Amino acid sequence: MTINAPRGVHDIIGANAFKMTELENNAKFIFARHGFIEARTPIFEDIALFIRSIGEQTDIVSKEMYVFEDKKGKKFALRPEGTASFVRAYIEHRLDMSYPEGKFFYSGEMFRYERPQAGRYRQFHQIGGEFLGNSSPSADAEIIIITADILSSVGIKELSIHINSLGCCNCRPKFRQALIDYFSSIKDLCQDCQIRLEKNPLRLLDCKIDSSKFTNVPKMTDFLCPECKENFSIAQDLLKSAGYKFRVDDKLVRGLDYYNRIVFEIRSSVLGAQDALAGGGRYDNLVKDLGGQPIPAVGFALGSERVILAAQETDFFEKKEKAKKIYIAVADKELIGDAFAFAIRITKQGLKNNKNISVYPPLIDKNFTNQLKFANKINADETIVFAKNEFDNGNLIVKDMKARTQIEIPISEI
Ligand code: AMP
Repeated sequence: MTINAPRGVHDIIGANAFKMTELENNAKFIFARHGFIEARTPIFEDIALFIRSIGEQTDIVSKEMYVFEDKKGKKFALRPEGTASFVRAYIEHRLDMSYPEGKFFYSGEMFRYERPQAGRYRQFHQIGGEFLGNSSPSADAEIIIITADILSSVGIKELSIHINSLGCCNCRPKFRQALIDYFSSIKDLCQDCQIRLEKNPLRLLDCKIDSSKFTNVPKMTDFLCPECKENFSIAQDLLKSAGYKFRVDDKLVRGLDYYNRIVFEIRSSVLGAQDALAGGGRYDNLVKDLGGQPIPAVGFALGSERVILAAQETDFFEKKEKAKKIYIAVADKELIGDAFAFAIRITKQGLKNNKNISVYPPLIDKNFTNQLKFANKINADETIVFAKNEFDNGNLIVKDMKARTQIEIPISEI
């Protein structure tokens, strides 16, 4: 019996791996321009970290975490997202001291036990950025802009930026009560919503089952305290002044409990049901809640697989320059050593001179005909042949595999 990859988990090979690397490289480039530094955290953490940060009542913690015990019976979870782990590391290493107003980015695998479908997997990749130590709306606007810029950097045009404010500990309780009053009057709430109504009524706003029943729902924007209102308004002005279009979306609450004030999501109309490419927001209480100093923060995460799916509608990845493939063939056994050394030498020269070439050294277990078949199979652009007569005259044969022509070139000129 063969063993396949677990459900919802994928191997990323060849072109798809290339796309993921390109996306990560583009993101790194944009992060660097905004002064972000990289952080790599473990893929598993003490389960308490996610319960305390993301929230016990969220789908992520209550249903989707991969939990395991180590040999001593201690409970861990594979990380379902990156912010909690980063904040844990931030506190542990007192990064507030070494990087006041620090900006950090990460990328890597996340794990959620969700029902797999297009754009939704059990292991997926996120790229995220966090800006800690600044509570101003310019930090909010910068995070939203970076997110949009990374998405645009792989050619995605149909982007819509949705923003909302969830208020703060002063104004949110009044909104929460208004929601409880409103939702209590609605009959036949789904089972999840009945629990959410008690534990976290904001979460009803993005219920996929009940949302059609909700009309004239109270809006957080009507409850914002003057400070939250001003913050939200300045963030909008800054986005506008930088030329970024967005819409205020009263129902946007996000699936993690630690957010306050601004939250956002960037969606693409080219994707189906799973149209959220990225999301984020402010989490001013999380560092303190996890045992650190009271340090405000704002961040985002994008889903790399979804971004790559959306980018398929563009020719961004196809247009990327492909390496020229060169196979080194050997027609006479006595030239094997020369041909192999030559292949290694031009590979090194290519590296040194930043040439976009892929060099395939001779496969010495194949005869010449089979070597040419191999060159065709790998779609080589050129085959450079070591053949005795020509070699003795100081020449190599260079075959253009596409045009099916060949010329002799002095070794010293190649
Ligand atoms: P979140 O951490 O839930 O705010 O999600 C941020 C982004 O990660 C989403 O906008 C998606 O692009 C991506 N994402 C979240 N869950 C999954 C999943 N199960 N499979 C693939 N991508 C996901």
